Amino acid sequence: MEQQRRAVVVGAGIGGLTAAVALHRRGWQVTVLERAAGLAPVGAGIGLAPNAQRALDAVGLGDRVRALSAWQGDGGMRTPGGRWLARTDAKAAAARFGGPLVLLHRATLVEILTSALPEGVVRTGAAATVTDFGDDDRPARVTVADTGTGTRGELEAELVLGADGIHSATRRALFPGHPGPRYSGTTTWRVVVPAPARPFAPHETWGAGRLWGSQPLKDGRVYAYAMAVAPAGAHAPDDEKAELLRLFGDWHHPVPEILAGVAPDRILRHDVHHLPDPLPAFHRGRVALLGDAAHAMMPSLGQGGNQAIEDAVVLAHHAGTAPGFQPGRALAAYTADRLPRTTAIVRRAARTGALTMLSARPAVVLRDTAVSAVSRFGPGLALRGFDGICDWRPPVDPVPRSGHDPSRVS
Ligand SMILES: Cc1cc2nc3c(=O)[nH]c(=O)nc-3n(C[C@H](O)[C@H](O)[C@H](O)COP(=O)(O)OP(=O)(O)OC[C@H]3O[C@@H](n4cnc5c(N)ncnc54)[C@H](O)[C@@H]3O)c2cc1C
Repeated sequence: MEQQRRAVVVGAGIGGLTAAVALHRRGWQVTVLERAAGLAPVGAGIGLAPNAQRALDAVGLGDRVRALSAWQGDGGMRTPGGRWLARTDAKAAAARFGGPLVLLHRATLVEILTSALPEGVVRTGAAATVTDFGDDDRPARVTVADTGTGTRGELEAELVLGADGIHSATRRALFPGHPGPRYSGTTTWRVVVPAPARPFAPHETWGAGRLWGSQPLKDGRVYAYAMAVAPAGAHAPDDEKAELLRLFGDWHHPVPEILAGVAPDRILRHDVHHLPDPLPAFHRGRVALLGDAAHAMMPSLGQGGNQAIEDAVVLAHHAGTAPGFQPGRALAAYTADRLPRTTAIVRRAARTGALTMLSARPAVVLRDTAVSAVSRFGPGLALRGFDGICDWRPPVDPVPRSGHDPSRVS
């Protein structure tokens, strides 16, 4: 009888964990190596569009995610003074893309993913380095350093996934000539706070070189995010709450109320880097990249994590059931499926990001007028920007497993 094959996943972010679940379901023996001491995820929300939900349906987790998420209601885009530029119609969006956009806390998503894995699959405090890419005849090798004790070990695997995020060392090892991530010129803040007393509709508000979004979570809290043009590595001279008050304190409700409820030490600030230059491939030997390691994008379409989830499911589809795995063929098929799609989305996200971050007054007036005009033709025109993204369907296995139809969001 053939031995169970081993897959090593470097990085326990959303992409790595989804890949681990997808491979485990196909009979792989999976080990996830996470450098951080624990799986304490970023204190922020994440929006999952129907494309990622269909991928999660394919690994049996879509219903659980939807049950623990807030389904996005009607809202829209506003100006800092509160004028509506465009209204979004949740029903029209769901009808167009085959399901709702849902929003949940990242910790909830990580919990759902880890609970679908057997005990011991995820090893935290384990920094991994890929030392041999392997090939069709030779396994790949990964060195693991225990960040607590400093001890080192080595693992051999039939498949290694570099899911180690935007600053991926696996990507650098696979493609040393690639220029790597570039600063987008923008920084972001994220908070999760109790909902303000006065109700509000979900919104994204575009100012001059600044943006704010407020989205309710299912548990009564609110996930809010902000973005602004800033030099790389900048930080507030005092604290990030004071900086947010300076930038957004006079914006429309609920922004000031949300800010009033924020503890300065609960604000996450991250500069946004992305990969505007596509990689030549998403694999080499027996090693494949996924998620931000492969195609980091600006958050303007809310698709970075969604694409990582898609990657994971497509990769597991091509890896197949463990005994039949042929790395050269399987990973070339993975690259062929994923590289063109994600390259196009990285570019679209950069274009949208540039539009949201326009700073010059005449350009902002022109942009707002155009958004407003487009919305007057109905939600269809605005939603068209997500055609080809949110309507994605996962690949269907030649022999359906467990009677599930992965083409539908349940
Ligand atoms: C403000 C903002 C809002 C966003 N909103 C959304 C949204 O609404 N929807 C959406 O889909 N996306 C969103 N994104 C993008 C999304 O957060 C990312 O695309 C996604 O988290 C990438 O997941 P990942 O698993 O590829 O990488 P990561 O989440 O970065 O995980 C990588 C993991 O690898 C670990 N690691 C790194 N090196 C090693 C090593 N050598 N050994 C072991 N472990 C290692 C890291 O510790 C980390 O845990 C947003 C991003 C930002 C900045």
